[in-house]
Amino acid sequence: MIILEKQIRTIGCFGFLAYTLCGSAVGAQDQITSYTLEEYCASGAVECDISPAGLVVGPEGTTSQYAGRLDAAAETFHRYFGKKAPKAAVVIDRVLNSEFMIQLRKDHVVLPWLTQAGQDLMIKDGLRKQVKAQNPQLKGEALETLVQQLFAAHKNNQTSDRSAFHLGVLAHELGHLMFIKAFWPDDDFGQNTTNTVRTRYGGPAHDWLDEMAAVLLETDVLTQNRRQSAKAVLAEHGTDAFWPLEDYFTIVHPIFARLQGLIKKRAEASEEKEQGDFLVLTRDQIPIESGREPVNFYLQSRLFADYMIKQSGDEQIFAHIASYVSASGTIKEWLADYGNKKGIPGSVDDLQEDFNYWLSSGQFET
Ligand SMILES: [Zn+2]
Repeated sequence: MIILEKQIRTIGCFGFLAYTLCGSAVGAQDQITSYTLEEYCASGAVECDISPAGLVVGPEGTTSQYAGRLDAAAETFHRYFGKKAPKAAVVIDRVLNSEFMIQLRKDHVVLPWLTQAGQDLMIKDGLRKQVKAQNPQLKGEALETLVQQLFAAHKNNQTSDRSAFHLGVLAHELGHLMFIKAFWPDDDFGQNTTNTVRTRYGGPAHDWLDEMAAVLLETDVLTQNRRQSAKAVLAEHGTDAFWPLEDYFTIVHPIFARLQGLIKKRAEASEEKEQGDFLVLTRDQIPIESGREPVNFYLQSRLFADYMIKQSGDEQIFAHIASYVSASGTIKEWLADYGNKKGIPGSVDDLQEDFNYWLSSGQFET
């Protein structure tokens, strides 16, 4: 399943195998308010979980499942990037109106988020629409039974621990936002603009580096899931399953690329208005095209992260690269300037050869 937050400018960030939640949103309700978010939290109208790393705000009963998650993400960010994580806010189930969202964005990166229950409702909505389109005669109980069956099949296709997966993707998305804010503090993700469709995937860096930051922040459950998936993909297809590094370092995120047409079509249709800020798609709704499986981009990123950290012996190697790139360097220049000093081949060709050797020798399994 892919969830794209829509309405606003955004296809900012992508979750992994199963779903995605993107960048910025304006709340569903747009009433004018004259009080601060602190006052709103104190009023009890919303539930606010405030911690050193930021804030989780949602309808009553929704925030406790995320307790400690912001702080854990901030800690992991600091571990890999050597910088204090920018303050983050997770806004659950569109609980804040646009005025509060603007208030929050003054000193937080903001991630609109749906609970698992909220996501499930949207998946069912999507399935219902699909079924109706294919079987217009199906109605009432028969329709609902089929929707429930399809939803159950969808759930069975997912990882066994949906809640661990859900929390891991939250960390992934926070990684995107924290990374961009920390290395490109002036980039606004377009968060202050409304009603325009985002034309780039992540921050000012090439997409692989954005994805790298997000993958590094994932929880252990997801990290292991990625490595196992990568192992299976490599066993079946070999290193051709991955993009040549020459391409990997420059291409538009393959899922973002593939969904562009779909997003545009949906934006033109009324469907988007019905769904509000989020668009939820099951994975089989991603358009099929020839070429590599787009989700392999995440698997490649995971193993490339493992390779670079292991070969350099430096957990903060991507912090070094990000600093270099944010000062207008390129990865090719970084390799030439610092690769050998860091124990990494100094050109893309040599790096490719070494990376392929590392992959084929199965060292990533240890
Ligand atoms: Zn991502």
